[in-house]
Order: sequence, then C-alpha cells, then structure tokens
Amino acid sequence: MRAAKLVEVQKIEVVEMEKPEIKKDNEVLVQVKAVGICGTDLHIFHDGRADVTLPRIMGHELSGLVKEVGKNVTNVKVGDRVVLDPVFACNTCDICKSGHPNVCSDVKCYGVQMDGGYCDYIVVEDYHLYPFDPSITYEQAALAEPFSIGVNIVNRTMTSESDAVVVIGSGTIGLCILQAAKGVGAKVLVSDVVDEKLAKAKEMGADVIVNSAKENLAEAVEKFSPGGASVVIDAVGIAPLTEQAVDLTCPTGRVAVIGFDAKPAQIPPVKITKKELTLVGSRMNCHQFPKVVEWLNEGKINADLMISRTYPVEEIQKAFEDTIANGKDIVKTLITF
Ligand SMILES: [Zn+2]
Ligand SMILES: [Zn+2]
Repeated sequence: MRAAKLVEVQKIEVVEMEKPEIKKDNEVLVQVKAVGICGTDLHIFHDGRADVTLPRIMGHELSGLVKEVGKNVTNVKVGDRVVLDPVFACNTCDICKSGHPNVCSDVKCYGVQMDGGYCDYIVVEDYHLYPFDPSITYEQAALAEPFSIGVNIVNRTMTSESDAVVVIGSGTIGLCILQAAKGVGAKVLVSDVVDEKLAKAKEMGADVIVNSAKENLAEAVEKFSPGGASVVIDAVGIAPLTEQAVDLTCPTGRVAVIGFDAKPAQIPPVKITKKELTLVGSRMNCHQFPKVVEWLNEGKINADLMISRTYPVEEIQKAFEDTIANGKDIVKTLITF
C-alpha cells in the first residue's frame, strides 16, 4: 500500500509499505478514502514538534470504507463507510474510566504522536469508528473530526439557543465552532482580522462578522448583545485573546479556551468573581462523534463550504506547500486515496 511519510521537516515522501493486518478480535481494517490536512499537521510539517518523532505518517481527520472486521466487532460491518475518532487514550486510568479519554495524561492523537491515516489502509480498534450514511461523501465525512472539536466546545460551554456567542478567529476551527453553535440555535458573532476569512463565516451563517483590525470589537459585541456575550470562545488560542474574551462576556458568561499557548494570560481574579464567569478548557473531543455524524447525516452542518481543495495522495507534498502558501483562502485541504 501507499503511505505518505513525513521523513524530515517540510518533506513528505509517498512510499510502498506492507498493508496492515487485523491482529485482535475487536480490530477493523479500513480502506482510507479522504483525509483532511489540519493546522496541527501543517505546523508539524513546517516546523516539526517536540512530541512528534520522524518518520511519521500524519493524518487524523479521516473517512474510509470497512474492508474486514475482527470476530468480536459489532458496531461496524464490512462495506460501512466510517469516520475515525482520533483520541487514543490508555482506557485504564481513573480519568479514562470516568469517561474523559481526551484528557487522559497518556492521550495521543492519531497521526500526531502515533502513525495515522495518510495511507491506503489502517487497522484500528472498533470503538474509534462511526458509520455514516452513504448520502454523505467521503470528502464531507473527513470534516467530522474538526466539527467534533466545535461540538465539544459548544458542549463544554453549555451553549444553547438562548446564547449570544462570540467566536474570536475565523479559521477552520472558528468556522466549525460557528456551525456547531448555529446548530444548537445560538446567535453568533465572528471576529477576525482577515476579510476573506470573515466572508466564509458570513457564508456559513454568522449573524455578525467583525474585522477587529478595522472595527472596535468591544463596541461591536455591545451592539450584538448589550451587556456582553454569554459565551466567548478564543478560537485562535493565544493569551492576549483569552484576556480579551473575559472582557467581552456578560455576567454569568462562559469563556472557552482551546489554545496551547504556554505564555501566561493576565486575568485579574476580580473580573471572574464580579461576573461569576466560568472558564472552561476544551481538548480534541469527548465522545462527540455520534452527534457530529447525526448532524452530517441531517445536513445540519455544511462540510462542502469548508472544503477548499482536494489533492490525490501522490501530490501530498504540493498539497501541504500550497495550503501554507494560500492560508488566507483555504479552509480545508483534503487528501484523497
Ligand atoms: Zn485536526
Ligand atoms: Zn487514561
């Protein structure tokens, strides 16, 4: 089979490898069909990452076709089209047992700290796979993983139809959060500093878009939801925006943090106390795939608007280079097999 390996920083080679085989009774052989390029993949490709050893087969946003199942597999069958939940945890610690594998101290993301899906076939344990309707294309289904991040944030912030949500950042994840928040009926303001990205948000149903380089965001939020937004999500993930998010909330508001910025944010405790704010983190997703697949099947979330470009696996090097060079215009690049 073909496998695309990051052999050194900025260099992916498509090589021939032995096709993997089912070894355990709960394992499934999946023929990979479409895999998204994530911001994480771009970062690893461009700069490398301390916890990623090379060579590495990246790819964690994938869909495929079930070709073979172990004898104890019951949730999927041969011929099913499936998406993969890339959260790989120990499953034995107290956190995993309490139902939160995505924050297990030993958690790995498929295709990041372990080999992933930029290859013709993968073998994984059955509980990572979720079947989707044949009316959904493999390309659309490959968006399930980024959507699961948006749905997880909506869940963590307890966002509902009565909420006024501010999403800071109109990149891929910001747009997934937007769609998830619209999916539960909230009204949503999206801010960014790039007009092209904001146009995408408008297309996907944002009630208000704000270019914070040209307009005062605090004033725009006050107009959107007098007294402040009930939910503010920093979808960029840097400390100064976390600080700003706290200021944009109304009393009892919720602030979601999804970034991995190690620099401290300067948030005076009084700001949290006075408004009784809730600060929540959100990491990958926690059992959100059934909801995402349901929403994809129902057409409640629109994957087509997210897909900017598609490349065959042979052109994966070019796909990465083009996506980095055209960051402003590209929401999601897919690799197909
Ligand atoms: Zn991703
Ligand atoms: Zn664990």
